[in-house]
Amino acid sequence: MIYKERQEPSQLVLLRTLKSRMALSKLDQQTYYNLSKGYEGERLFDALLQDLKCDCLVLNDLLLKVNNQTFQVDTLLILNNQIHLFEIKNYKGDFYFESDRFFQKDGTEIFNPLTQLQRTESLLRQWLTHYQLPTSIQPSVIFINPEFTLYKAPLDKPFILPTQLNQLIKNLNYEQFTLNQRDKELAGKLVAEHMPEHPLQQLPAYEYPNLKKGVKCFICESFSISSTKYGGIVTCTSCGYKEKIEIAILRTLKEFKILFPLENITTSKIHEWCHMDTSKKTIQRILEKHFSKIGSKRWSYYS
Ligand SMILES: [Zn+2]
Repeated sequence: MIYKERQEPSQLVLLRTLKSRMALSKLDQQTYYNLSKGYEGERLFDALLQDLKCDCLVLNDLLLKVNNQTFQVDTLLILNNQIHLFEIKNYKGDFYFESDRFFQKDGTEIFNPLTQLQRTESLLRQWLTHYQLPTSIQPSVIFINPEFTLYKAPLDKPFILPTQLNQLIKNLNYEQFTLNQRDKELAGKLVAEHMPEHPLQQLPAYEYPNLKKGVKCFICESFSISSTKYGGIVTCTSCGYKEKIEIAILRTLKEFKILFPLENITTSKIHEWCHMDTSKKTIQRILEKHFSKIGSKRWSYYS
């Protein structure tokens, strides 16, 4: 049973929203790529866990703190008085493991995921001791990408390779235990102590005047949207996708809210942000339908 859902990292949402409206630096492009690959891998593992039939609790994407150190858990499973701790890696291609170090096939060393797993395991154990919830931990690194190969894979390390994933689910499903009150208390405490945002995330600097304005096509993300005078339909001139103007405007407004969460929503602002051949009246009608109006006349805004 999913006890805590996974949320798309806010840094990923923000970078995706920004990347079509301004030029991202090389570093931000790399961060965006890494975050989206990571999230994609985690979603693949989530889909696999849907085949679990055993009595267990699945907690995704936890951010916890103990002894002034923050740690992140990709997936945690409470089953049979144990915690299964999963670090998920979406690596693609050929890698090898040698002298406790992790390399790409061309010899480039990358950060050993076991080091990360050991840190998370150690901090989780400290966390459990701190809250007097001692529980044994079974840690593993999951290599989720079917195009991942690990040469010289050691037998004594907790690596789960793509060809072993189905067996992992089968093994977990063999467990015959049922959850008890203590398991539920543990899950409740983990969620209660979860911190919603990573405090250290680096965000690119951006300002409203420098961002590209306009409505993006839902399918191809092109800004070439044309609206017809009547009928309330917009058409993408790149791919031909048609949708209701209301849906297109609301999606574009959502992007504004992601980028400028503290700004008040006003008719003029959204009219300018959407940069469409549409009247302020249309924007106002949509805002009035979906938001509540605060204030009156010129100074009114929507929330
Ligand atoms: Zn399109």
